[in-house]
Amino acid sequence: MTTKNFDIAIIGGGVIGLALARALQKSDASIAIFDAGREIPPASFAAAGMLSPSFELADGNAEVAEALYRFGAYSLSRWSDFAATLEDETGASIDYRTDGTLGVANSTDELEAWREQTDRVASLGGDVAMITGDEARALEPALASTIIGAMLAPKDAQVDPRRLMAALTKSLCAKQITARITTVKKDGHCYHIKASDGEAFNARTVVYAGGAVSGLVAKEIVFPVKGEATAIGLSEGIVRRVIRHRDAYLCPKAGGRMVIGASEMRGRDDLEIDASAIAHLRTNAALIVPESENAKELERWSGLRPGTADGAPILGRNADGCFLALGHYRNGILHTPAATEAMAALILGNTQTPEIAAALRAFSPDRLVTT
Ligand SMILES: Cc1cc2nc3c(=O)[nH]c(=O)nc-3n(C[C@H](O)[C@H](O)[C@H](O)COP(=O)(O)OP(=O)(O)OC[C@H]3O[C@@H](n4cnc5c(N)ncnc54)[C@H](O)[C@@H]3O)c2cc1C
Repeated sequence: MTTKNFDIAIIGGGVIGLALARALQKSDASIAIFDAGREIPPASFAAAGMLSPSFELADGNAEVAEALYRFGAYSLSRWSDFAATLEDETGASIDYRTDGTLGVANSTDELEAWREQTDRVASLGGDVAMITGDEARALEPALASTIIGAMLAPKDAQVDPRRLMAALTKSLCAKQITARITTVKKDGHCYHIKASDGEAFNARTVVYAGGAVSGLVAKEIVFPVKGEATAIGLSEGIVRRVIRHRDAYLCPKAGGRMVIGASEMRGRDDLEIDASAIAHLRTNAALIVPESENAKELERWSGLRPGTADGAPILGRNADGCFLALGHYRNGILHTPAATEAMAALILGNTQTPEIAAALRAFSPDRLVTT
């Protein structure tokens, strides 16, 4: 078997690996993307596609939470250009929508939680406001009469991740190879890469973008957080914005497909779908949008989010000099433009905007890798 040589090998063809390959192919480098295909289905295919930094201000370490919010907000600001150029290049629609997001409450506790979230996001410069239940229903008449108030994030957006993946794939001239990579060994200025079928490759630069269960990164660093979701048929226009609630969210997509998500189970690496989890999502969705109750189910699925101990991504290099674009947890679709910009800047030595430089400092692997 002959060994194939590339300048850059990207291991993982989810949204992060594909978008990075697209950015890097503007250089003269020869690029290969390795993807395990059906053996390890990408989380990107399972995502709802919410581009919602306002709703992802994590609890816990305040410094990390702020860095994560700022990175998400920066990435959201890049999404409109990213979507337009990708659609122009490929002629494919990715169903990018900028109708905003509503976080709804049907109890005073929930209302208080949204108020706190509004204050925190506003203190970081985010565009969010509290509105009454009637104001929320004026925006979205299908909302239940029990909704007593909401947090409105008018600039949060969404996209269809499956269309995004298809468009990114179409945009690539990089070589796409279906193979599960089992080892990467450094040898001077070269990396020897081995696939599970025994095939061998060499590359001068290696990027790990293998998501939650690549087998190439320690489980303490990136671990799976399983999520289940479903889609129902609900005519377009009944709900325009993404509607979020503590126990379920609804994302309207093209063609009358409404995505309802999602469960969260840390550490589970199977893709089994629990009927009771889907029933729970449907029940909660119906409490928010009663018309969804009897809508026909179109599909149900699951995926493995790539989690990290502090909920923030890993952008940088490991001890062997391999680049890491990992751990985007609940926000890989949102992060795609900014993560791509950050990794391309690192790999090609491009100038970094202040936002990207700050993210690369905050999300360095050094904070998680203790050995
Ligand atoms: C139910 C659900 C809802 C979500 N909703 C949203 C949302 O609304 N908004 C948002 O921003 N994010 C959301 N996410 C999170 C988002 O899907 C992830 O953060 C993102 O898809 C991660 O992308 P990735 O490219 O890093 O990994 P993945 O998409 O998982 O891709 C990794 C790829 O690497 C390949 N691979 C792995 N190991 C190897 C190997 N050893 N050799 C070769 N190839 C390998 C796999 O085959 C896979 O294709 C959601 C996730 C889930 C599960």
